Amino acid sequence: KLTDIVDFTEITPDAAIAADRHGGRAKCLQRLIRIDLPVPRTVALSFEAVHRIALGQMPDTEALLAVFGAAPLISVRPSSQDPDWGGPASILNIGMNDARHTALCETHGEAAANALYLRFIQAYAVHVARLDPDLFEAEGYAGETLRAALEAYAEEAEEPFPQDPARQLQEVLRSMARAWEGTTARLLRQAKGAPAEAGLGLVVQQMALGLGPEESGSGVIQFVDGTTGQRRITGRYLGQSQGRDAVSRQKQALFLTRDPRGPALEDRCPDLFARLKRFGETCRINLREEMQIEFTIEAGRLWVLDAVRVQRSARSAVRIAVMLADEGIIAREEALARIEPRAVSELLHSQVDPTGRRPVIAQGIAASPGAAVGRLVFGSAAAQASAARGEACILVRRETTPEDIRGMHVAAGVMTERGGMTSHAAVIARGLGVPCVVGVSDMRLNRRDGVLITSDGRKLHEGDVVTLDGTNGQALLGEAKMLPPALDDAFHALMGWAEAACDIGVRANADTPADAETARRFGADGIGLCRTEHMFFEHDRLTVMHEMIFAAGPEDRGTVLERLLPMQRSDFIRLFEIMQGLPVCIRLFDPPLHEFLPQSREGIRELAEALDLPLSDVTRRVQALSEFNPMLGMRGVRLGIAVPEIYDMQARAIFEATIEARRKGQSIVPEIMIPLVSAMREVELVKTRIDSLAAAVRTERGVDFAFRLGVMVETPRAALRAGDIAQHAAFLSFGTNDLTQMTYGLSRDDAGRFMGSYVKQGVFAEDPFHVLDTEGVGELLSIGAERGRKARPGIVLSICGEHGGNADSIAFCRTAGFDYVSCSPFRVPVARLAAAQLAL
Ligand code: PEP
Ligand code: MG
Repeated sequence: KLTDIVDFTEITPDAAIAADRHGGRAKCLQRLIRIDLPVPRTVALSFEAVHRIALGQMPDTEALLAVFGAAPLISVRPSSQDPDWGGPASILNIGMNDARHTALCETHGEAAANALYLRFIQAYAVHVARLDPDLFEAEGYAGETLRAALEAYAEEAEEPFPQDPARQLQEVLRSMARAWEGTTARLLRQAKGAPAEAGLGLVVQQMALGLGPEESGSGVIQFVDGTTGQRRITGRYLGQSQGRDAVSRQKQALFLTRDPRGPALEDRCPDLFARLKRFGETCRINLREEMQIEFTIEAGRLWVLDAVRVQRSARSAVRIAVMLADEGIIAREEALARIEPRAVSELLHSQVDPTGRRPVIAQGIAASPGAAVGRLVFGSAAAQASAARGEACILVRRETTPEDIRGMHVAAGVMTERGGMTSHAAVIARGLGVPCVVGVSDMRLNRRDGVLITSDGRKLHEGDVVTLDGTNGQALLGEAKMLPPALDDAFHALMGWAEAACDIGVRANADTPADAETARRFGADGIGLCRTEHMFFEHDRLTVMHEMIFAAGPEDRGTVLERLLPMQRSDFIRLFEIMQGLPVCIRLFDPPLHEFLPQSREGIRELAEALDLPLSDVTRRVQALSEFNPMLGMRGVRLGIAVPEIYDMQARAIFEATIEARRKGQSIVPEIMIPLVSAMREVELVKTRIDSLAAAVRTERGVDFAFRLGVMVETPRAALRAGDIAQHAAFLSFGTNDLTQMTYGLSRDDAGRFMGSYVKQGVFAEDPFHVLDTEGVGELLSIGAERGRKARPGIVLSICGEHGGNADSIAFCRTAGFDYVSCSPFRVPVARLAAAQLAL
């Protein structure tokens, strides 16, 4: 129907209704009508019509009302394109006035008539006339309450309550249209991802009265559990009610299915209940989705007013998608496309139950997902003591250093005052799958007094219980309600489909056998980065490391390295064993040596004792190794060239482990990777030594083996000179953590201090340590890839910085033709799904 003012369309099976013109609710109602569900007569107003109403034009409300017959009661509800964007509150019972009230008293009884009228007056007063809600908060439905509401209205609005239904409807439409265009509503929906100019449609629907004679009432029903995704009927029904009363007054409401806690609709109205169940089934099959149905029983007759997608947690989203695909209702590709990759990481860890309380006491950067409850500890020794007592602990540090590794290993969660997405604590915690929050700059840890002062001035002590939420970057006071991880059959099915769809490899950054096992469990295609230095942080090895650092000369050092050799060899044998012939890329030693040394006086004294050296010697050595700018100093290949014995030992360990693995029947071709290269000559020097070492091992053992030598591109110069470098490298792996740090000249360990304000002010769209900066760092990647490929066609290209687990960054790498991405084991499923979605 078209009027000369603004148009409206009755929703029929064939009417031209579109979600992007009339909104999701209008479209969904049309689908319900098409599948023959008993939906009351409904009219849709388009975005365009509602926009014009906001500007002052109006539909012919007399004509609109006429669609519903004589003296109808109607509701108006919002219909934005995406139901999650919200909208103004629905208004029910439009058309109620004194005359209707009198008539309804006759047909439906006074209580029902009062309740219907009162509800409309309250909604109209608050949402349309914008009067003080307190004045209309009435209890009960007595006649006096109704009269008081009418009087309050007349007094506050300085006019009697409008009696003309056409005018009532006009005012309702106008107020809803204007509310949508207001600044607050705009900001709210933009925060939910809606575009600034998103439109609002409205649906006008004939009321089905849940108040009145016989069985009358309203309720909601859904057929899966929104938290677990298991098939289960939940919802409530409340006799003599309307709208979502059954949900808001749950205590008075009936259960739907038989329940020991109280009476159920299933018993009271078995036929209606059976029909509702059939509606759910019809919706699932035809709408290809699990829906929550809003229904009303009007004098024994069942109506469906609306249906919305069941609100769901990440785990439930996965289960629902997999169930729908298994039942053949949707294709597997569609199941994959429906899951937000980020949501998958929620399944791998415990999470704070979103329905529980959230007393937030600290906010920082969400560096490693998952949540954990534990007692606060402020040092690694305390963490270990706590673990020894079998008590979960949350380790809080100003920042972590390699010395904290042991504490981090046993902690349930880690929080640091400083740091960003790629600082030590963040990288290690992600590797361990431990929840971690870094850069909590408004918290102060005072270790001397043993207090942690939160931003609101609260003082916490060691032993106080907190919940660390690494998914949201928060700490909560006390023990929050938790949801366990959900690595269930649905998760594994989805991952299997993702693997089949994926056209870029996904490897894991795995340093230890435990990491490698996690990587395998999550279906990684291999190890893309084994940071060998992490193998030296274990207690007995740290001592040997110290001896190596304090060795008097190359000969002494050689002797100590001989003791490290079997340890490294057994590490690699384990990794090869776990990975079962999948590729393993081992990075030679990378960090500056002083990272292994204590900084405190106490630590230095302990070290002097352990090494049986004078304190002054140890102090001097520690000082000599300290650097002004350790990230840009003697580390990576520079150390490999200055102290070549370390790389020699590592290469030998790799080759001997390869021979051992082959003896056990695994065909391993290890990949050896040189870190922090900036010049071709560095590669030449290392390659020459490694080649001759390989030759020596082959001769000694009388066994042949192959290996591949590659280079980590993590300095800007390496990217620019990738052409030269590729001549000596079988593969190039972009270390985008360092490459980002060096391209921006921005310390990965200090960026957290101002990253929040930088992102807030739009200096950076995102934290570049989290999402690859495709414009700057990305250009270096493109240049490096292109020059590397030109010099050596077929060279294997990959990324192994933390970006390897981020969906946008994966998209960039895939477009650039990379062979694989590599990320923390716990991010493998996220990366896998993101990559699969790109390939769909
Ligand atoms: C990198 O720099 O991107 C990288 C993977 O190495 P690391 O984080 O160990 O410096
Ligand atoms: Mg690096």
